[in-house]
Order: sequence, then structure tokens, then C-alpha cells
Amino acid sequence: MNAFELIKNKKPLLWINPDKLNSEKALSTKTLTTSDIKEAEERLQRFAPLLIKIFPELQSTGGVIDSELMELGLSENTFIKSDHSLSISGSIKARGGFYAVFVIVEKILSEHGLSVTNITNKTVKDIRSLFASRSLVVGSTGNLGLSIGLMGRAFGFSVTVHMSLDAKEWKKEKLKKIGATVVEHKSDYTVACRVARLSADEHKGIYFIDDENSKDLFLGYSAAATTLSGQLKEKNIPVDIDHPLFVYLPCGVGGAPGGITFGLKHIFGDNVHCFFAEPVEAPAMILGLVTGENSSVSVNDIGLTLDTCADGLAVGRPSEFVAGIMTTLLDGCFTLKDNDMLKYLKELYDTEGLKIEPSAAAGFAGPEYLTNSSIGKDYLAKNKIDTKNITHIVWTTGGSMEPEEEFQKNYKIGKFLFE
Ligand SMILES: *Cc1c(COP(=O)(O)O)cnc(C)c1O
Repeated sequence: MNAFELIKNKKPLLWINPDKLNSEKALSTKTLTTSDIKEAEERLQRFAPLLIKIFPELQSTGGVIDSELMELGLSENTFIKSDHSLSISGSIKARGGFYAVFVIVEKILSEHGLSVTNITNKTVKDIRSLFASRSLVVGSTGNLGLSIGLMGRAFGFSVTVHMSLDAKEWKKEKLKKIGATVVEHKSDYTVACRVARLSADEHKGIYFIDDENSKDLFLGYSAAATTLSGQLKEKNIPVDIDHPLFVYLPCGVGGAPGGITFGLKHIFGDNVHCFFAEPVEAPAMILGLVTGENSSVSVNDIGLTLDTCADGLAVGRPSEFVAGIMTTLLDGCFTLKDNDMLKYLKELYDTEGLKIEPSAAAGFAGPEYLTNSSIGKDYLAKNKIDTKNITHIVWTTGGSMEPEEEFQKNYKIGKFLFE
């Protein structure tokens, strides 16, 4: 079976992107550049002092929201980038989602002749009253809504989250508790986003955060590459032609993994190899790339249902903007079954005591695919890469906010299936 047939038949596969160019060439054709990433980093730095005032728990990190790079005890050269434990919202959306809120905050502040650096000495109350007449609107499968809700409400915005059918009950409850409005849709993410988009009107102070097409989200994520590069240096882990870095990123619409890939390619060029992980039931990005149809094809069009326990990845089509950038930049994608995500979720808890949500476990299939499948071995041989010199990074993207019973439910299924 070719890649398309495997996708259509829900068969797990590793796919190598035949259209990838060398990174210098690929990056030179993109509309976003290094200076855009730099701007994102600077914006995050500008907000850090204010964030400490709003979220005292950020004191210890100086207002920086980042996660630990942890070595896995059981497998050599394998690390996890533990975004499942990111502050405040417990998922990778704390990067892009918060950043998108910051962009809107600065826009409004500048309308009042203020800047984020000159309000740090004012009370948080003053800032909140400034935003009380404005609202944020977003469509989400759960985690983005949670991040926008938590950060938006903290600044005093009213927040409306349009939740797709897949969204978990506890995420909706949490949002209602902090005073966000939750609109529950009986349809998928694309529809939830469409309704959210229609309700927005910047002239009336209603701002739409467009996960399906957002440059801001993308750049917010891209800044993670710079801090990761610093962590690798700290740990004396070289990244060069003889020591390639392989990064495995769970993918929904592609903003998070795409932004991070974009940032990493800027820093490490062809010495970093990025692979996106998707459920066999929701292979949005791989389908768009394999067919060349980008976002004009949906997984529903080929008979798939989005029926997956990985709610964070349950989307039918990729972001058009991100898929466009990935066509010549991304190294490849792979898919896996829900059962395997639950297996990895269980194993990570048994070996490291870490609790993640199913979406966040998708990347763990990566090292095995690359080093043990025939397509993976071919790829390594073609690139003259010696397996033992690879540093693998599995990006764990969410879970620390999950209620204990939710984790236990998934853990027990993993245990039942694999013990
Ligand atoms: C949103 C999300 C992703 C993927 O991010 P996209 O920008 O949608 O590709 C991965 N894991 C988790 C837990 C998420 O919430």
C-alpha cells in the first residue's frame, strides 16, 4: 500500500517528506524570518515582569514559561521536553496561546498610549478594568481554549470558547469556573472555529484567535526552539552533522509542532530532523502533505471519523498557513493507534512517574519508527546517520492539569492492554 492508502485504511505509518529542501533553501522562501522569531522572544521577555505580578507562581522562573528537558532513565540519548508541565495551563498551548493573548494586550495598550513595560508598576486591577470591555473568542478542542481562557481572564477580558465535540468535560468545567463562556458544539473543530470566527469583530472589541491560520500562535511556539537550544548547551549535548537531533512533535492543526520546527530549523539547519505524530483517526497534516491538498482535504473526506482519545490532536484538516510552510521544511510524519498512545502513557508513568494526557504521548512512537522500521532505517542510511549518535527529543505536550481520575482512566486502559 502507498502512503495514501495506509492513511485511508488507518494503518500506522512513517512517511518521509519527498519535497523537503535543505533548510537554508526552504527557509529563504518563507515569508516569516529570523527577525519574526526574535520579535516573539522579545515580546515574551517584555511580558515576564508583568506575569510575575499576575501569577506569583512564576516568581521562581522570572516570569518565563518554559519546561524542563529531562533525560529518560530507561533509554539512552532520549529526552523529553516536558511541556505537559508548563505553568498555568499545563499544555504546550501555554506557548502559542498565551503569546496570542499578549499580542492583543499590547495592541490595546498602545491604543491607550501605554506599553507593557510602563504598566508593570500599576496594580493588576487597573489593567483588568482596561480590558473588561473587550473579549476574546476562540475555537478549540480543549487545551487552546483553556490557555486563552486562563490568560485572558487573568487580564480581565471576557472570554468565549467554542468547544468542539471532542473537548473533555473537565476542561469545559474549569473554564466555566474562571468565568469564561463555553459554547458547546456537537460538531468538530473546523465548525467550532468557523462559528467563533463569525462572532468576532475587532471594531467592537471582540478579538478572534485563529488557531487555523495564526501567525501569532506560530511565532509564540517558535520561541521554544531558542530556549531548547540553551538547555542542550547546558547539558553539553552537541548538535552537529555527526550528532543529529531528532524531535518528535504531536500534531493537531500544526501550529505548535510547526512553529517549533520553524524555530529549530533556524537554529540547527539540517542537523535537526523534525517529525510530526498524529492519531490514525485524525491524520490531518500528513493527509494534507501526502496529497498535496494542504487544508482543502479533510480526514472526513476519506472516511475517517476523528474518533480518538487524543482530544488535543482531534482535528480534520491542517492549518493552511502551517502546512504551506511545512511542505519544504518538515522531515516527515508518522501515525499511531490510540492503544499505543495509552501504552506510552502507562510506560512513562511506570518508569518516570510522569502523568501526561494521551495526545502528549504520541511522540514516543518516533524513536522506534526511525531506528527500527525499514523506512526509518532507509532514511538514516541515506542521510549517513549512525543510530548511536542521535539525540532523540520526545515533546510531551499536555497533562499536568488533568484531574487524577481522568489520568487513572487512561492509565488503566494502558495497563489492561499491555500487561
Ligand atoms: C494542541 C495540542 C497539540 C498540537 O498542537 P497544534 O497546534 O494543534 O498542532 C499537541 N498536544 C496537545 C496536548 C495539544 O493540546
